[in-house]
Amino acid sequence: MAETTPLDTVRASIAHAAKVAGRKPDDITLIAVSKTRTADEIRPLLEAGHRDFGESRVQEAEAKWPALKADFPDVRLHMIGQLQSNKAADAAALFDVIHSLDRDSLLDALAKADACPDLFVQVNIGGEEQKGGVAVADLPDFLARVREAGLPLAGLMCIPPQGLEASPFFALLAELARRNGLDGLSMGMSEDYESAVRQGATHVRVGTALFGARG
Ligand SMILES: *Cc1c(COP(=O)(O)O)cnc(C)c1O
Repeated sequence: MAETTPLDTVRASIAHAAKVAGRKPDDITLIAVSKTRTADEIRPLLEAGHRDFGESRVQEAEAKWPALKADFPDVRLHMIGQLQSNKAADAAALFDVIHSLDRDSLLDALAKADACPDLFVQVNIGGEEQKGGVAVADLPDFLARVREAGLPLAGLMCIPPQGLEASPFFALLAELARRNGLDGLSMGMSEDYESAVRQGATHVRVGTALFGARG
Protein backbone atom coordinates (compact mmCIF):
# COMPACT_ATOMS: atom_id res chain seq x y z
CA MET A 1 0.00 0.00 0.00
CA ALA A 2 1.24 3.48 -0.87
CA GLU A 3 2.43 5.68 1.96
CA THR A 4 0.24 8.62 2.97
CA THR A 5 1.88 11.84 1.80
CA PRO A 6 1.43 15.35 3.22
CA LEU A 7 -0.53 16.10 0.04
CA ASP A 8 -2.98 13.27 0.86
CA THR A 9 -3.32 14.57 4.42
CA VAL A 10 -3.99 18.18 3.42
CA ARG A 11 -6.47 17.10 0.74
CA ALA A 12 -8.31 14.93 3.28
CA SER A 13 -8.43 17.79 5.81
CA ILE A 14 -9.87 20.14 3.18
CA ALA A 15 -12.47 17.55 2.21
CA HIS A 16 -13.43 17.03 5.85
CA ALA A 17 -13.69 20.77 6.60
CA ALA A 18 -15.78 21.22 3.46
CA LYS A 19 -18.12 18.42 4.47
CA VAL A 20 -18.57 19.86 7.97
CA ALA A 21 -19.52 23.19 6.37
CA GLY A 22 -21.91 21.57 3.89
CA ARG A 23 -19.66 22.41 0.97
CA LYS A 24 -18.29 20.39 -1.93
CA PRO A 25 -14.55 19.62 -1.66
CA ASP A 26 -14.24 20.22 -5.42
CA ASP A 27 -15.20 23.86 -4.89
CA ILE A 28 -11.91 24.45 -3.05
CA THR A 29 -8.62 24.79 -4.91
CA LEU A 30 -5.53 23.79 -2.96
CA ILE A 31 -2.61 26.01 -4.00
CA ALA A 32 0.68 24.35 -3.10
CA VAL A 33 2.92 27.28 -2.14
CA SER A 34 6.27 26.33 -3.66
CA LYS A 35 8.22 29.55 -2.97
CA THR A 36 11.82 28.75 -1.92
CA ARG A 37 11.34 25.08 -2.93
CA THR A 38 13.51 23.48 -5.59
CA ALA A 39 12.23 21.77 -8.72
CA ASP A 40 13.19 18.45 -7.12
CA GLU A 41 10.90 19.18 -4.16
CA ILE A 42 8.06 20.25 -6.46
CA ARG A 43 8.18 17.34 -8.90
CA PRO A 44 6.70 14.67 -6.59
CA LEU A 45 3.54 16.77 -6.21
CA LEU A 46 3.27 17.16 -9.97
CA GLU A 47 3.74 13.42 -10.37
CA ALA A 48 0.97 12.86 -7.81
CA GLY A 49 -1.32 14.87 -10.08
CA HIS A 50 -1.28 18.21 -8.30
CA ARG A 51 -1.49 21.20 -10.67
CA ASP A 52 -2.02 24.46 -8.72
CA PHE A 53 1.12 26.10 -7.35
CA GLY A 54 1.81 29.44 -5.70
CA GLU A 55 4.93 31.59 -5.92
CA SER A 56 5.67 34.96 -4.36
CA ARG A 57 8.48 36.28 -6.58
CA VAL A 58 8.35 36.68 -10.35
CA GLN A 59 12.09 36.11 -10.85
CA GLU A 60 12.14 32.92 -8.80
CA ALA A 61 9.12 31.57 -10.68
CA GLU A 62 10.68 32.45 -14.04
CA ALA A 63 13.79 30.51 -13.08
CA LYS A 64 11.94 27.39 -11.90
CA TRP A 65 8.71 26.93 -13.78
CA PRO A 66 9.36 26.99 -17.55
CA ALA A 67 11.25 23.66 -17.29
CA LEU A 68 8.58 22.12 -15.05
CA LYS A 69 5.81 23.39 -17.32
CA ALA A 70 7.49 21.73 -20.29
CA ASP A 71 6.80 18.38 -18.60
CA PHE A 72 3.46 19.35 -17.03
CA PRO A 73 1.87 21.87 -19.41
CA ASP A 74 -1.47 21.98 -17.60
CA VAL A 75 0.03 23.49 -14.43
CA ARG A 76 -1.73 26.60 -13.09
CA LEU A 77 0.57 29.16 -11.47
CA HIS A 78 -0.68 31.58 -8.82
CA MET A 79 1.18 34.78 -7.93
CA ILE A 80 0.58 35.28 -4.20
CA GLY A 81 3.28 37.80 -3.26
CA GLN A 82 3.54 41.55 -3.53
CA LEU A 83 3.90 42.52 -7.17
CA GLN A 84 5.76 45.59 -8.44
CA SER A 85 4.12 47.37 -11.35
CA ASN A 86 7.29 47.09 -13.42
CA LYS A 87 7.01 43.27 -13.13
CA ALA A 88 3.33 43.17 -14.07
CA ALA A 89 3.86 42.27 -17.74
CA ASP A 90 6.28 39.45 -16.83
CA ALA A 91 3.86 38.18 -14.19
CA ALA A 92 0.95 38.29 -16.62
CA ALA A 93 2.96 36.20 -19.09
CA LEU A 94 3.81 33.45 -16.59
CA PHE A 95 0.96 33.31 -14.08
CA ASP A 96 -2.63 32.15 -14.54
CA VAL A 97 -3.93 33.92 -11.44
CA ILE A 98 -2.70 36.95 -9.48
CA HIS A 99 -3.84 37.11 -5.84
CA SER A 100 -2.18 40.37 -4.86
CA LEU A 101 -3.79 43.18 -6.84
CA ASP A 102 -3.79 46.02 -4.31
CA ARG A 103 -3.32 49.41 -5.98
CA ASP A 104 -4.05 51.56 -9.01
CA SER A 105 -0.54 51.55 -10.48
CA LEU A 106 -0.60 47.74 -10.63
CA LEU A 107 -4.12 47.78 -12.05
CA ASP A 108 -2.98 50.15 -14.82
CA ALA A 109 0.07 48.00 -15.60
CA LEU A 110 -2.04 44.80 -15.77
CA ALA A 111 -4.58 46.52 -18.01
CA LYS A 112 -1.76 47.07 -20.53
CA ALA A 113 -0.56 43.45 -20.43
CA ASP A 114 -1.23 41.22 -23.45
CA ALA A 115 -3.57 38.91 -21.55
CA CYS A 116 -4.50 39.61 -17.97
CA PRO A 117 -4.65 36.64 -15.55
CA ASP A 118 -7.62 36.16 -13.24
CA LEU A 119 -7.34 38.65 -10.40
CA PHE A 120 -7.94 38.55 -6.67
CA VAL A 121 -7.92 41.90 -4.92
CA GLN A 122 -5.88 41.73 -1.73
CA VAL A 123 -7.61 43.35 1.23
CA ASN A 124 -5.71 44.69 4.25
CA ILE A 125 -8.19 42.88 6.43
CA GLY A 126 -6.58 43.72 9.78
CA GLY A 127 -5.96 47.39 8.93
CA GLU A 128 -2.22 46.89 9.50
CA GLU A 129 0.04 49.78 8.56
CA GLN A 130 2.91 47.73 7.17
CA LYS A 131 0.79 45.29 5.22
CA GLY A 132 -0.18 45.34 1.55
CA GLY A 133 -3.78 45.30 0.48
CA VAL A 134 -6.62 47.69 -0.19
CA ALA A 135 -8.16 49.25 2.93
CA VAL A 136 -11.63 47.89 3.70
CA ALA A 137 -13.10 51.40 3.33
CA ASP A 138 -11.56 51.84 -0.14
CA LEU A 139 -12.61 48.43 -1.45
CA PRO A 140 -15.89 49.31 -3.25
CA ASP A 141 -14.24 52.13 -5.25
CA PHE A 142 -11.22 50.00 -6.10
CA LEU A 143 -13.40 47.09 -7.27
CA ALA A 144 -15.36 49.52 -9.43
CA ARG A 145 -12.12 50.59 -11.12
CA VAL A 146 -11.11 46.95 -11.75
CA ARG A 147 -14.50 46.31 -13.31
CA GLU A 148 -14.35 49.51 -15.38
CA ALA A 149 -11.00 48.38 -16.75
CA GLY A 150 -12.72 45.18 -17.93
CA LEU A 151 -10.21 42.91 -16.17
CA PRO A 152 -11.13 39.38 -15.02
CA LEU A 153 -12.01 39.83 -11.36
CA ALA A 154 -12.13 36.50 -9.49
CA GLY A 155 -12.51 37.56 -5.86
CA LEU A 156 -10.80 38.77 -2.70
CA MET A 157 -7.65 37.65 -0.90
CA CYS A 158 -6.35 38.31 2.61
CA ILE A 159 -3.53 37.52 5.02
CA PRO A 160 -4.87 38.00 8.58
CA PRO A 161 -2.65 39.64 11.24
CA GLN A 162 -0.12 37.30 12.82
CA GLY A 163 -0.80 36.02 16.30
CA LEU A 164 -4.55 36.64 16.24
CA GLU A 165 -7.34 34.13 15.76
CA ALA A 166 -7.86 34.17 11.97
CA SER A 167 -11.49 33.11 11.66
CA PRO A 168 -13.11 36.55 12.32
CA PHE A 169 -10.93 37.98 9.55
CA PHE A 170 -11.96 35.16 7.21
CA ALA A 171 -15.60 35.84 8.06
CA LEU A 172 -15.13 39.54 7.32
CA LEU A 173 -13.51 38.81 3.95
CA ALA A 174 -16.41 36.47 3.08
CA GLU A 175 -18.88 39.21 4.02
CA LEU A 176 -17.02 41.78 1.88
CA ALA A 177 -17.09 39.38 -1.08
CA ARG A 178 -20.82 38.83 -0.61
CA ARG A 179 -21.54 42.55 -0.42
CA ASN A 180 -19.56 43.18 -3.58
CA GLY A 181 -20.96 40.30 -5.63
CA LEU A 182 -17.79 38.21 -5.74
CA ASP A 183 -17.46 34.43 -5.46
CA GLY A 184 -13.73 33.85 -5.07
CA LEU A 185 -12.11 33.85 -1.61
CA SER A 186 -8.35 33.26 -1.40
CA MET A 187 -7.68 32.76 2.30
CA GLY A 188 -6.11 30.24 4.66
CA MET A 189 -2.52 29.02 5.02
CA SER A 190 -0.94 25.97 6.70
CA GLU A 191 -2.01 27.04 10.19
CA ASP A 192 -5.61 27.87 9.46
CA TYR A 193 -6.77 26.54 6.10
CA GLU A 194 -9.45 24.31 7.65
CA SER A 195 -10.99 27.31 9.38
CA ALA A 196 -10.81 29.23 6.09
CA VAL A 197 -12.64 26.41 4.30
CA ARG A 198 -15.39 26.47 6.94
CA GLN A 199 -15.70 30.25 6.33
CA GLY A 200 -16.05 29.83 2.58
CA ALA A 201 -12.52 29.85 1.10
CA THR A 202 -12.43 28.85 -2.57
CA HIS A 203 -8.60 28.94 -2.69
CA VAL A 204 -6.30 27.98 0.19
CA ARG A 205 -2.55 28.71 -0.02
CA VAL A 206 -0.57 26.00 1.77
CA GLY A 207 3.22 25.73 1.89
CA THR A 208 4.66 24.41 5.15
CA ALA A 209 2.06 21.67 5.65
CA LEU A 210 2.98 20.22 2.25
CA PHE A 211 6.74 20.80 2.04
CA GLY A 212 7.89 21.17 5.65
CA ALA A 213 9.33 24.28 7.32
CA ARG A 214 11.05 26.81 5.06
CA GLY A 215 14.77 27.17 5.73
C1 LIG B 1 4.16 31.84 2.12
C2 LIG B 1 2.73 32.17 1.91
C3 LIG B 1 1.72 31.22 2.14
C4 LIG B 1 2.00 29.82 2.67
O1 LIG B 1 2.34 29.87 4.03
P1 LIG B 1 2.50 28.52 4.89
O2 LIG B 1 2.36 29.00 6.28
O3 LIG B 1 3.84 27.97 4.57
O4 LIG B 1 1.40 27.61 4.48
C5 LIG B 1 0.41 31.58 1.87
N1 LIG B 1 0.09 32.81 1.42
C6 LIG B 1 1.03 33.75 1.19
C7 LIG B 1 0.61 35.09 0.70
C8 LIG B 1 2.37 33.47 1.45
O5 LIG B 1 3.29 34.42 1.23
